[in-house]
Amino acid sequence: MDESQWWPEDKLKQGQLQQLRNLLAYSIVYSSFYKERLKNIDPGKLSLEQFREIPVLTRSDLQSSRATIDCSQVPESHGKSTEVMTSGSTAKPVSLLGTGLTSMIWNAINLREHLWHDRVIAATTAAIRWRPDDVGMAPDGVTFDDWGMPVNQFYKTSAAYYLNSSSNISDQLQWLEQLKPSYLMTHPSNLQGLVEESKRQNSDLSFVKQFRTVGESVSDAQRQIVEDEFGQELVDFYSSQELGYIALQCPQQSHYHVQAESLIVEVLREDGSPCAPFESGRLVITSLRNYATPLIRYEVGDYGEIGEPCACGRSLPVLNKINGRVRNMLQLPNGERHWPNFGFRKIMDITELRQFQVVQHSLETMELKLAVVGSVEPQQEQSIKEILQQHIGHPFEIEISYHEELQRNANGKFEDFVSLI
Ligand SMILES: [Zn+2]
Repeated sequence: MDESQWWPEDKLKQGQLQQLRNLLAYSIVYSSFYKERLKNIDPGKLSLEQFREIPVLTRSDLQSSRATIDCSQVPESHGKSTEVMTSGSTAKPVSLLGTGLTSMIWNAINLREHLWHDRVIAATTAAIRWRPDDVGMAPDGVTFDDWGMPVNQFYKTSAAYYLNSSSNISDQLQWLEQLKPSYLMTHPSNLQGLVEESKRQNSDLSFVKQFRTVGESVSDAQRQIVEDEFGQELVDFYSSQELGYIALQCPQQSHYHVQAESLIVEVLREDGSPCAPFESGRLVITSLRNYATPLIRYEVGDYGEIGEPCACGRSLPVLNKINGRVRNMLQLPNGERHWPNFGFRKIMDITELRQFQVVQHSLETMELKLAVVGSVEPQQEQSIKEILQQHIGHPFEIEISYHEELQRNANGKFEDFVSLI
């Protein structure tokens, strides 16, 4: 992988095509679902054009046809198969099999991510992440002797600290100030909460050399906040439980490189045709390494944008942006749907926000849920509504409600926009 990231684009594509032919040939023999689905395809002669005509595999296909999608056997060299279950960002979770090979690839890309971002492995690292129970709550969290797998197999590391992100923000800040980790990984919305809280308390987080994010899509505004406050770039990556690491942030730019040695990422319009660079579309992803539950043109449920070749010299394709889940699209009365930008940077100039969430109740009504510091005057409310309407591009009827703390969804993710349509 150290070499293949620099390969010419053609060589990389040829390698992917070969892996794809192998995967399809195997799936036709050992998966009854793909035997039917790929019946008109000759894997040995497959072109990328033909590949794009294979129907997309949806999450509901995977839920309903899992038994026939799974291969009846897996090559011995791929190691043991184990059940993977998504934690249910949609109402119904998805389950599938992973193999020893897919977890080895996961480890390899994990190391690649540390190397790309030049981490000092001898330093300490902290993670404030969600989990479904109350393990690792403040004030103590959990302390580990090292950074864990796979890093500890190759390097002597310092301690790693974990704190449950359900701990309240001021306790999180106190925990960080005590431990002073050099790296911090957390969810973008939680990081934003920490930045606001540290501003409020006038505390100094300059011991953190790099802020890393996970599990939610990062907005430009969130990147900007970290840059403004700490003078450093935020480092993000994109992964899913079904597919593992999908894209890592470039070491030199804020966009992402597809992990093309292990998967093929397509960005598609609603009609299935490929999007042009900088055009947002559905992410459809093929895992080249999973021979237990083959995911061929799997619609993962997120949106993204293809970017242009990267100046860093890596030929791994660029994803310019990755946008959250499909359900989080705003719908206008004329039927148009788009990714909302609410102008929260401007709203924060009007009042100090701790948390915000926009809920679309109908084609005409929005609710803005706010957790604020202090109180908001009627005139400020009016300005906030105007900024929202202006950014959304439609004069929605907006109601503002105030909350002590806004709740996460069942998956522990915090969504800044929820559509109830
Ligand atoms: Zn790059």
